[in-house]
Amino acid sequence: MGKDLERPHSKKLVKAICETVELNETQLKKELYSLLHYVNENRCFVSSDHILNLHLDGEWEKCKGKVAPEVIEEGLHSRSDIMGECAVYMAAYNIETAGVRDLLISMLRTSSIETVVERAGRVLAACEEKNLAMYAEARLMDDAIPSYICLYDYLPKRVEDSAAENWLRIIRRGFMGNRYMVSATLNYILSVEPDNIPQRIKDTLISMVEKSFVEWNQKQVKCLHCKEETIVKEDGFCPKCGIGANLPTKNFIEVLTKYQCLTMEQYISLCKHPMSEVRDIARQELKRIWMTDPKKLKTVIINFEERAYDKVVFALILQLPSDVTSVYKQDLQRLGMETNDKMLVEWIRRLRHLDWVSASERKEMLKKCLASESDRVRDGAMACWLNEEGTFWCFMR
Ligand SMILES: [Zn+2]
Repeated sequence: MGKDLERPHSKKLVKAICETVELNETQLKKELYSLLHYVNENRCFVSSDHILNLHLDGEWEKCKGKVAPEVIEEGLHSRSDIMGECAVYMAAYNIETAGVRDLLISMLRTSSIETVVERAGRVLAACEEKNLAMYAEARLMDDAIPSYICLYDYLPKRVEDSAAENWLRIIRRGFMGNRYMVSATLNYILSVEPDNIPQRIKDTLISMVEKSFVEWNQKQVKCLHCKEETIVKEDGFCPKCGIGANLPTKNFIEVLTKYQCLTMEQYISLCKHPMSEVRDIARQELKRIWMTDPKKLKTVIINFEERAYDKVVFALILQLPSDVTSVYKQDLQRLGMETNDKMLVEWIRRLRHLDWVSASERKEMLKKCLASESDRVRDGAMACWLNEEGTFWCFMR
């Protein structure tokens, strides 16, 4: 903010802000000095991630027609959010002033500073600029100028047949970008309903997503926080500093799921993925597949041992509604009681929720389990017997 205040038009900008939000200029100066002092004393305060929680409740209408385009331009270039956000409001209320709209359009189309592009875009969107999508598309297609993730917000939610090739070009360029661009591209694809994409380009789109996913899985992503070269783990975190790297893995799985590109077997193996968000999607999808296609559930249960599925898959099956699983009573009971202790623990854990197991059957099974050599099995059986969620379950979750 110190740098912002050194700019030639900053005085006019601050004055306009003060008038609008009814701040006393002298009071503001005092507060700024104490803030600067505080920042110098505490360097951690000036982290780039630090965003002030702004309450800009002034009557911005008051600045209508009073702020010159050059002041707005400089305000939108502010490094600090407090000045930048005020300039966003001022720009919106002065959009009718000669030159302001053109200025914002030019910033959106040509500025090389991400925050400036983002701020200009927000004002134009709020002021219902009708060519916004066109400007965003043109910029995202242009190799000569950097693309920023905010531009995806303005892309159309329907792909016209005549514009399909350009649209694919934008998506392809997005996948060539860094992890943030890739995530933004995937989120944009997710925001467009599949019915709003011409059939003839859908296949191309899906193969692009699949290809890019394979490439990303092979990529060695460096941590942006560590000075030395540290490669981020598959779970998305840096092994050294522990900071998350915003890998686009989950976004890929979401798009591939929406377009039904993944098979049941792929979801079963994704249940072991190191990212919990990916595991959650996989589990949810498996349940959906089994509920809508009983044949697939049958295949899994029949081939359970042969395919060496584990307790995670077993637990998921047991979580399905009782009317779906009751057909497989014999098979599930055998898998639970006779495979191994881990499966047995899952079986006991769900036992009370399985409507197709009668009270007397349950009693018989629990008696056997109470005689088990495994502590976990005995503890689980005891908790089920007492019908309480003992401390044991807390550790198991
Ligand atoms: Zn790191």
